[in-house]
Amino acid sequence: MLKFLVSPGELVLKGRNRGFFERQLDRNLRLALGKSLYRQDRFGSRRLLQVDGKIEEAQSRLRSVFGISRFASVNKADNWDDLKKQLKNILQEKSFRTFAIRAKNKDTKGLSGQKMNERLGNFIGKDFPVKVDLEKPELTIYVDHYPHAFYFHFGWQQGAGGLPVGISGQVLSLFSGGIDSPVAAYLMARRGCRVDLLHFYALDNAESVLASKIKPLFHLLQRYTVSSQLILLPYAPFYQAIRQRPPTGNEVVLFRRFILRAGERLAVKNGYRALVTGDNLSQVASQTLANIVATTETVKMPVFRPLIGFDKKEIIDWARRIGSYELSIRPYQDCCALVQKHAKTRVNLAAITKEEKQLKLEKALTSTLEKTVVVSGN
Ligand code: ATP
Ligand code: MG
Repeated sequence: MLKFLVSPGELVLKGRNRGFFERQLDRNLRLALGKSLYRQDRFGSRRLLQVDGKIEEAQSRLRSVFGISRFASVNKADNWDDLKKQLKNILQEKSFRTFAIRAKNKDTKGLSGQKMNERLGNFIGKDFPVKVDLEKPELTIYVDHYPHAFYFHFGWQQGAGGLPVGISGQVLSLFSGGIDSPVAAYLMARRGCRVDLLHFYALDNAESVLASKIKPLFHLLQRYTVSSQLILLPYAPFYQAIRQRPPTGNEVVLFRRFILRAGERLAVKNGYRALVTGDNLSQVASQTLANIVATTETVKMPVFRPLIGFDKKEIIDWARRIGSYELSIRPYQDCCALVQKHAKTRVNLAAITKEEKQLKLEKALTSTLEKTVVVSGN
């Protein structure tokens, strides 16, 4: 049986809401680890998880749970003699010349952390040809002494950070399948939101979308968002409406207004509190300040843009870390590619609203929403 010590992050700061946050974290841990989670105990704010199965698999699942700042695969020792015996066995297998002990007394009547450091340091120094180095040790041994046992390990791993999904309410994230929008959805989930995805497709039907990169991207994001839904809407009604006339350069902003309005309608009906996009200031013509303002003006609901101030490289780094990058760059028939030619960097709002009426985009919106398909996670 594997054992993990899990250290929550910002939860510790959350005052009276802390119990609520912690319960959500525990639920999310159970969902992430599924049947492999055999037992879950709490020591203060820390969790001790006992997990069946392969260590790599368990670590990868733990890395996807928001609200964890770090975790470690630990061994348990019942008393001092047991601790020394186990350490000796494990250290024989390791090659190191310098080491440090970082021991902590977690509310027991036993020795202080400093005394434990000394005692264990002497013990190891006697049996192995190694030296203490507190600055840059080749091996660090962490020991926590709890009232019922010792737990020791050889290093923390970084967790996903953020807050447990579910504590911040629901948002609807506009998801194109490009590089940016999966990262935007991820970052909102990382702040504790339940995130559902809304995708407009230019393919012929929803089945073809589910055979494309959109489905694996959705599944990948679900590792972090726990149990989100993917909502699919056709782009065709919008495209048929704008194709009636020669291009004006307003198409991208018209499209973005159209999808925000569709998002707002779904959001009001289904209890989402805000919309999310992967916009990044001045990255492309649709994302100049003027065009973002003209786009947002059409909805009342807050639109969050977690990537607005990032550099492209920073977004790509996130996408790589999340694992979405390789999927995002797969070829796909993108709606924006169809409307992006000769886009104006600064649209005229009066002209835009006039065009919307002429093109009867409200009618196109109704017929789009009639074709809503909802895909759930499992
Ligand atoms: P991305 O990498 O997310 O596709 P982008 O840099 O290609 O972004 P745009 O194509 O202008 O920029 O899209 C900006 C944002 O608009 C996207 O991040 C997404 O939130 C939303 N969006 C664009 N196309 C779609 C679509 N087909 N379905 C849903 N949302 C979309
Ligand atoms: Mg795009």
